[in-house]
Amino acid sequence: MDIHRIQPGTRVHLSTFDTRDTGGFGGDKATGKKELKRLTSRLEDLQELLYAEGKHRLLIILQAMDTGGKDGVIRHVFDGVNPQGVKVASFKVPTTEELAHDYLWRVHKQVPGSGEIVIFNRSHYEDVLVVRVHGLVPADAWQRRYDQINAFERLLADEGTTILKFFLHISKDEQRTRLESRRDEPHKQWKFNVGDLKERKLWPDYLAAYEDALSRTSTEWAPWYVVPADRKWYRNLVIGSVLVQVLEGLDMHYPPAPEHLEEIVIE
Ligand code: AMP
Ligand code: MG
Repeated sequence: MDIHRIQPGTRVHLSTFDTRDTGGFGGDKATGKKELKRLTSRLEDLQELLYAEGKHRLLIILQAMDTGGKDGVIRHVFDGVNPQGVKVASFKVPTTEELAHDYLWRVHKQVPGSGEIVIFNRSHYEDVLVVRVHGLVPADAWQRRYDQINAFERLLADEGTTILKFFLHISKDEQRTRLESRRDEPHKQWKFNVGDLKERKLWPDYLAAYEDALSRTSTEWAPWYVVPADRKWYRNLVIGSVLVQVLEGLDMHYPPAPEHLEEIVIE
């Protein structure tokens, strides 16, 4: 799955990435779904270990165009994980109080503590994406943010947080299909947001903003993965695989049992 990882310093051109790619995986959808089942059950065990050991912190950042599948990833990849150890933080349009602070203020408050996994559904990257596309702050302000974000993530990493960032990459055609099903299917209509159509018109601007963000903030300590996301099963598989691989690499252990446990009689 390392084929989807952006090496630090690489200039990203999203048009060269196939959104329908099933790259590292030779199998078909059925095999892919079976493999995801195996991964999610492994993830359950690893999350419990992370929680029990209480040493590491894991931050997962999800970014995508509208309908890109952030909610789907949270639902399918973390299916079965104990809700006590996993938190989702969603970043919406900032409130007045949030706007009265620096843009990382609301973000820093949500980062994982020891033994925790936190999933960011959108993140501080909105502050170089939607904010840039709509000119919500002067250009020199958002231009400074790439370095600030790298420094912020470096701080988190230095203090023991593992950071993984996933850009769910869908095509504009795929977005049309998904918006149509939100318009047409009764159980999806609640998700239909006319505002998304306005953002869709700005597709090239968002692509340019994403390309800069991915190019400038994929680092050794907080890498970006560009996940082909037109096929939901493959998208889930990539993320599940990366998570399992990274968690297995943490060399975690259950804390030692209390002493003389064998002598304890339970009446
Ligand atoms: P949703 O994730 O569909 O509920 O939408 C949340 C909305 O909040 C999206 O349109 C984001 O672009 C917007 N948003 C998130 N963060 C920011 C931010 N820092 N500034 C402006 N808009 C934001
Ligand atoms: Mg939305």
